[in-house]
Amino acid sequence: MNNFKDFIYQRPNSDDFAARYQELLTEFDSENSGENQVAVIMKINEHRKKYSSMRTLCHIRHTVDTKDSFYEEEQQHFDITGPSLANLDHTFYSKILNSPFKETIVAHFGNQLMVIAASAIKTFDPSIIPDMQEENKLVSDYVKIQASAEIDFKGENLNLSTIQKYEVSKDRAERKAAAFAKWNFFEKQEERVAFIFDQLVKVRHRTAQKLGFNNYVELGYQRMLRSDYNAQDVERFREFIRLKIVPIASEIYEKQRQRLGLESLQFYDEGFQFKEGNPSPLGDEDWIVEQAEKMYFELSSETHAFFQMMKNQGLMDLKSRPGKATGGYCTFLEKEKVPFIFSNFNGTSGDMDVLTHEAGHAFQVYKSGHAKISEYIWPTYEACEIHSMSMELFTMPWMSLFFGEKAIQYQYGHIANAIKFLPYGAAIDEFQHFVYSQPDCTIDDRYQAWRAIEQKYLPHRQYDGQEFLEKGTFWIRQTHLFSVPFYYIDYALAQICAFQFWRMNVEDHEKAWNNYVNICSIGGSVSFLEIVKQAGLESPFEQRAFDHVVGYLKRWLTDKEKDLFDDH
Ligand code: ZN
Repeated sequence: MNNFKDFIYQRPNSDDFAARYQELLTEFDSENSGENQVAVIMKINEHRKKYSSMRTLCHIRHTVDTKDSFYEEEQQHFDITGPSLANLDHTFYSKILNSPFKETIVAHFGNQLMVIAASAIKTFDPSIIPDMQEENKLVSDYVKIQASAEIDFKGENLNLSTIQKYEVSKDRAERKAAAFAKWNFFEKQEERVAFIFDQLVKVRHRTAQKLGFNNYVELGYQRMLRSDYNAQDVERFREFIRLKIVPIASEIYEKQRQRLGLESLQFYDEGFQFKEGNPSPLGDEDWIVEQAEKMYFELSSETHAFFQMMKNQGLMDLKSRPGKATGGYCTFLEKEKVPFIFSNFNGTSGDMDVLTHEAGHAFQVYKSGHAKISEYIWPTYEACEIHSMSMELFTMPWMSLFFGEKAIQYQYGHIANAIKFLPYGAAIDEFQHFVYSQPDCTIDDRYQAWRAIEQKYLPHRQYDGQEFLEKGTFWIRQTHLFSVPFYYIDYALAQICAFQFWRMNVEDHEKAWNNYVNICSIGGSVSFLEIVKQAGLESPFEQRAFDHVVGYLKRWLTDKEKDLFDDH
């Protein structure tokens, strides 16, 4: 069995790759039957996998050590060549859309391939290649600034991930100092970050106009391949959050304030949930993986086989290190047909959130990785996040393996956090709609807009006189705003779906688990709302979905609060 560290990286020759792709496209045109065209599509699919696997391998090795100059250079190479090769995919898509044998192609692959192709066509024209390259470069610059963070705190040299353990310290003065130290880093980067963001907005707006869109909101939705809902649906969804979730979140914060015995809950207190301290995993990375192995063995035979593979083939890099990129992600190596999980364990309960979340993504591609065509391996992002966020909830009963008797604290904190997240997700999304519909705004206009949106969705938020944050800058830490615009609401859409799965799981585990495995297996072969339907869930754009979970969540929280906080 091949181990990840033995995977051989070799820079693909992009000229050879393009020439062969072109050759296959010509072959596609010359075929005189649908069956033969389908056969050529399969060849194109195999050909693309080699390139994509190398690009993914490079991305992984670059993010696990951003100081490795070899992979940094390779990454720059892909940033430049990737957009020129997009031209070939564009040609491929237009050929299948216009094929005289389209019906046979649809009969073989299903209609979703045509939906994806039609969306992709609208988002590309050779004239935007330089803009795409500029965009990639700007995103890389931002990622580098974040990864370069070196924060001196209590004699330690910390990064944005390792400082988090002090941000949830039992000692309030330490929490505050850690949060201020982190924001001090962002304040020092303000000018560079604001410039990068402004350039990103401008290049994206320019790209949208070149492609015939009014603004980047429209292009952004197409780039996300959103085919069965629009900006009005999302606006309605945000309004449900404001009306139905913000009050629950405010109540959670108020109870937290009382529990902690504070006069006012400041921004640096929000993540600190229990007076005796947040629960943290009872062991290190290796120990957590061992416990996770037990958990996935007990959950199902499929998750057992899946996790064994992840562990034995070295497909996880979990611990935070200097120079490692921030955050967590899961990706898929198409040629090798294996997922890879990247995270920054820092000894907090967040480690378990990330592990179960990314394992949900990885399990999904483990199930769908054999899809007929690469376009079907991953669904659109909001559907992907159903897989990951539901896995966080399906694994809740096993948390005593990681937290011992503090498992109940973890469970309460996890659900409370999931609810608290929804208004923040809506705020980020509304902010992006503002930013891209008014691309000529100054940075100060953007700060002001953020502050107003924040007050709408996060009315409890207090910055304790930290002037930089009072000004409306909190969003500059949010990587998604830079790297994948309009992604963020996907977490909120998926959370409302995951909550429904959670309820179904409590009421009928077998049904919930089977539906879950089913939607993992179908991957991206159907659209978001079709996946929601096949999962047996209500669409998050309908009030019914909220009605289905809001009462349930309130009852669950009240029950747990009794167990946790009542003295008798
Ligand atoms: Zn995710």
